[in-house]
Amino acid sequence: MASSSTSTQPEIEEDVETILASGLATPTKKGWKGTIAVDMDDVLCQTNATIVHMHNELFDTQPPLTLADFKNYLYWMNRGWGTPEETVEMVAKLYQAGLYMKAPPVPGAKENLHRLKDLGYNLIIITARSENQRAGTEDWIAKYLPDIFDEIHFTGAFQHLEPTKEEKEGHVARKAVVSHHKRSKAEIIHSTSSLFLIDDSSENAFDVANSKYPHEGSIKVLLFGNYPWNAIIHGDPSDIESPLEKMTYFEKLKNNKLEEYENIRKHKIEKNWLPPGVERVSNWENVFEWVESFDNKRSDSQLDKVNDI
Ligand SMILES: [Mg+2]
Repeated sequence: MASSSTSTQPEIEEDVETILASGLATPTKKGWKGTIAVDMDDVLCQTNATIVHMHNELFDTQPPLTLADFKNYLYWMNRGWGTPEETVEMVAKLYQAGLYMKAPPVPGAKENLHRLKDLGYNLIIITARSENQRAGTEDWIAKYLPDIFDEIHFTGAFQHLEPTKEEKEGHVARKAVVSHHKRSKAEIIHSTSSLFLIDDSSENAFDVANSKYPHEGSIKVLLFGNYPWNAIIHGDPSDIESPLEKMTYFEKLKNNKLEEYENIRKHKIEKNWLPPGVERVSNWENVFEWVESFDNKRSDSQLDKVNDI
């Protein structure tokens, strides 16, 4: 990376690589109203619900794991995993056992993504999946949600970019964008001038909402799904974060702090603090209703501007 660059472009843009698809089935740039960015896991595909099922088959956790055990976005904070290192190995086993293709789409995703396109919006995916997950990710999109997305951005640091397999080229996305450094979702929202991000992670919601990048709208994130792992957003300035909340599941268990943690969690869920710029949406029907209402307000304000002339 050229650290002595005098370019006015931010340095972070310099090592971004793009691969363009040439397939005719690629969505045309028909959206004229702007771009909506969508996360992959648990917004498009039911990753964690599939993990619950596969985890119980592979690791025999007792009592069996349920989705309610996923209280934190980081698996090792939850029951049924282990140290961060052990968790990484377990996740690798789940992928080896076919996690990608076993995860069904989130109900209503396909239908409502098409409705958003028909309303005039471009759709892009921003996923934190990494280089070795790209082929599996593209296989999944080509099978379940083809011919919808203009771009797919991988936020992980990639060594190189492999071309998309020929038979699905164009059906996954018009272009795939990767980088040799890890990019934040906020950075990609900014570089793609996306109107907002639809994501199920409260951590991503907080980061994007608090990013310093200029953003035209007041809402930056639709926090997707009534999931246990996004029931709390950390970062409430009027609330002090307890050290307990940073402990792994085993640390809490060892220190006999599980109940105390549950009380803190319950209190925060009841408080339901959201950072400015974030709104909750329960499902894909809600997403469409939200965007439709946003779209109506936008058209009204544009009409007002025309009437003012
Ligand atoms: Mg996700």
